[in-house]
Amino acid sequence: MERTFGIIKPNAFADGNSGKIISRIYEEGFKIVGLKKLYLSKVEAEGFYYVHKDRPFFDELTEFMSSGPCVVMVLEAENAIQKWRDLMGATNPAEAAEGTLRKEFGASLGENATHGSDAPETAAFEIGYFFSGLELL
Ligand code: UDP
Repeated sequence: MERTFGIIKPNAFADGNSGKIISRIYEEGFKIVGLKKLYLSKVEAEGFYYVHKDRPFFDELTEFMSSGPCVVMVLEAENAIQKWRDLMGATNPAEAAEGTLRKEFGASLGENATHGSDAPETAAFEIGYFFSGLELL
């Protein structure tokens, strides 16, 4: 079993799509090990996306991620990292396949509804950024 980290981003939360996204997560066979609603500050969003600090979209992305509440989750499944990225679809909703979360709930390249870790090291960092061990029992 592998764990990954996911976010229901502020646009999907504000649109009332958290429940539908969580239903899809269960339908696809993930176990939800951790889940909570947060309202990130700009500084907290910057810390989370630190790897992107030199990218041109960093300020816009962290403004968006701190613009309203989001839901952070730890998901468990076999091959969870790839499985969650497959369920999310391509980064740009316009290029995401039918049936993926970003296709259905994404509004734009930035406001693309969900986040998912891209590798075991990033999953470990991202889970630890938001959850303590006690919250994941
Ligand atoms: N993003 C953006 N503009 C871009 C590329 C990415 O606003 O040109 C945002 C988008 O919300 C994306 C996040 O930055 O989900 C992180 O980008 P990454 O390339 O890591 O994509 P992901 O792993 O989320 O698919």
